Amino acid sequence: MKLKTLPSEFQKALPILSRIKEYGYEAYFVGGSVRDVILDHPIHDVDIATNAYPEEIKKIFPRTVDIGIEHGTVLVLFDEEEYEVTTFRTEEGYVDFRRPSQVHFVRSLKEDLKRRDFTVNAFALNNESEVIDLFGGLQDLEKKTLRAVGDASERFYEDALRIMRGLRFVSSLGFTIEEKTLSAMKANANLLENISVERVFIELDKLLMSSFWQKGLKQLILCDVYLFLPGLKNCKKNLQLMLDELAPSFQFETSEQAWANLLMSIQVKSIKGFLKKWKTSNEFQKTVENLITVYHIRLERSFSSQDVYRFGKDILYQVESLREAKGLTVNQERISKLDSELIIHNKSEIVVNGRQLMSQYHLSPGPKLGMLLNEIETEIVGGNLENCQEKIFRFVERRLVDESFFS
Ligand code: ATP
Ligand code: MG
Repeated sequence: MKLKTLPSEFQKALPILSRIKEYGYEAYFVGGSVRDVILDHPIHDVDIATNAYPEEIKKIFPRTVDIGIEHGTVLVLFDEEEYEVTTFRTEEGYVDFRRPSQVHFVRSLKEDLKRRDFTVNAFALNNESEVIDLFGGLQDLEKKTLRAVGDASERFYEDALRIMRGLRFVSSLGFTIEEKTLSAMKANANLLENISVERVFIELDKLLMSSFWQKGLKQLILCDVYLFLPGLKNCKKNLQLMLDELAPSFQFETSEQAWANLLMSIQVKSIKGFLKKWKTSNEFQKTVENLITVYHIRLERSFSSQDVYRFGKDILYQVESLREAKGLTVNQERISKLDSELIIHNKSEIVVNGRQLMSQYHLSPGPKLGMLLNEIETEIVGGNLENCQEKIFRFVERRLVDESFFS
């Protein structure tokens, strides 16, 4: 098959293929971008594979960076872009089901394509726009089928992350998994426990954020993969519920929104505890926690200016769109109105600070002063106190004569 047009990203990189060829070697575009071009999807990264060894590539191009030479990858800087150029390789002797103990550089394109996970990820594209398809990937693309290259069971046994990648491709491409590949996924799902949780997180996150996420999640349940993911072991029913309770066309807007919804569906007790198992960042945990708090607030009442101030309008909008997807009432306008009417957006916008209060009223630093500042903040946000020095001083004076304040 010959492509009629090449996307600009490939056109820009064509001189790299030609230059490598001039030196007597082979070079191709490979990986997901070739699949995406054939599907007429936008592409992200242009990966190049070659039979030239890394040292040979470094002689051909004046500007290179060693980014993974032991895996055969050299970064070539060309025309203000960076390209990963990787030597054809095979992988051997998988340790702990996760990484090959050895990679061997080889001179044969076929050997390199054979180690790739799925037939639709195993294309090569030469500088004449011809697609090299050694494993029936074009037919699989046509039939919207995801099929492992070679013996599916062996491939998942070698590297169980491929199971998660497969489910993620179901979600991004909307494909159906071929029968043998599917049963091999199920049979090897337990090996996912050996894979680093950070890598599994990336794949599950991509699955949730892709267009056909319901299809991907359904497949994840059918393959029993959830049994081997942190905190999801006993959640089959609730995961199914998550599929049923959101509108079929709904797309998560952020990862945090997706995970917040997941955690609510499976009724997680400790949000932090669950997300720690997935080794997510503190910032991610905090945002997910806020989304869940705000979701529960909104079940009780409509939003207030305090909510917009405390959590920020983005979190509130995300909660509203989750509600919409669940068929609950929404009021987006209220959020924008409350936000536009906010008198201050953070503490530093209050015209009086702690130091001024301490010197004016001979207060010492400590929890009481903190409480006073918090009260001022709440009153200003609630529209009960003007953000002006004189009014704030009057407020403080009233509070200081109030004995209960010091008790
Ligand atoms: P995306 O569009 O999300 O970037 P991709 O198919 O390009 O998807 P990458 O993770 O960028 O996936 O990997 C590039 C290529 O490397 C894949 O298309 C596949 O050929 C190969 N590959 C990546 N990870 C694996 C793996 N675990 N096992 C086998 N082949 C892999
Ligand atoms: Mg890629």
